[in-house]
Amino acid sequence: MDRRGPPRPPNRHPQLDPRPGMTTSRGMTGAVGRAGGPDVEVWWVGVGAARDEFVRDLNEVERGRLAAYLREVDQARFLLGVTLVRRVLAQRFSLPAAKVALDRTCPDCGQPHGKVRATGVELSVTHSGELVGIAVADRPVGLDVEKVDPRVEVDAVARIALTDAQVRELTGYDGIAKARAFTTYWTRKEAVVKATGEGLRGDLRAAVPDGVQVQDLDVGVDHRAALAVVDANAPVVKVHDGLQLLD
Ligand SMILES: [Zn+2]
Repeated sequence: MDRRGPPRPPNRHPQLDPRPGMTTSRGMTGAVGRAGGPDVEVWWVGVGAARDEFVRDLNEVERGRLAAYLREVDQARFLLGVTLVRRVLAQRFSLPAAKVALDRTCPDCGQPHGKVRATGVELSVTHSGELVGIAVADRPVGLDVEKVDPRVEVDAVARIALTDAQVRELTGYDGIAKARAFTTYWTRKEAVVKATGEGLRGDLRAAVPDGVQVQDLDVGVDHRAALAVVDANAPVVKVHDGLQLLD
């Protein structure tokens, strides 16, 4: 899990990290899911796509946050997350990326270190390992990606974070397959928490609440990813290559 690695920006509240449970997949881009539910756009990009010129579109808060990351890779992840959000919304609202109004006011203290929001749209940003992704929808959405860590102590963490049924399922796996399976559950839980905003107040081991749709997204063997949407119906998910926004 990437949680221990990247230093979070200063003043950030304790990481809301209860971890999550469902399923679909395909290549990294394309449409996933059945018709009927809401449309969700997902954009992925590799962390190597970051370029200094993207900083031009950032506001003061974002520049401060960018500067607070010590490691270049964390700067790149943050910069790409902001840039994807700005460019997707710029297209959607026919604005220059720098003019997209983003709000990061923390609901607990009013400081600008909360999750990113914009008027008229729901957003979720995630990064881990080599991947940065965003989800955009018209209802609450949570996107989570995690790099599979082969050293993760699955058994210890699983008992705290997973349902009994998931813990039992994990006993059927070994080695990297076990780490992948665990990380799959973890991303589902994280996506749900991000969509519902429940955070630490929620039950770490709770199953997916009613009215929340969760599915896995295929991002290759090194990472696992999941998407959650607060809706009665499974969403129609369109997965895009973020590189097309970064020219
Ligand atoms: Zn706060």
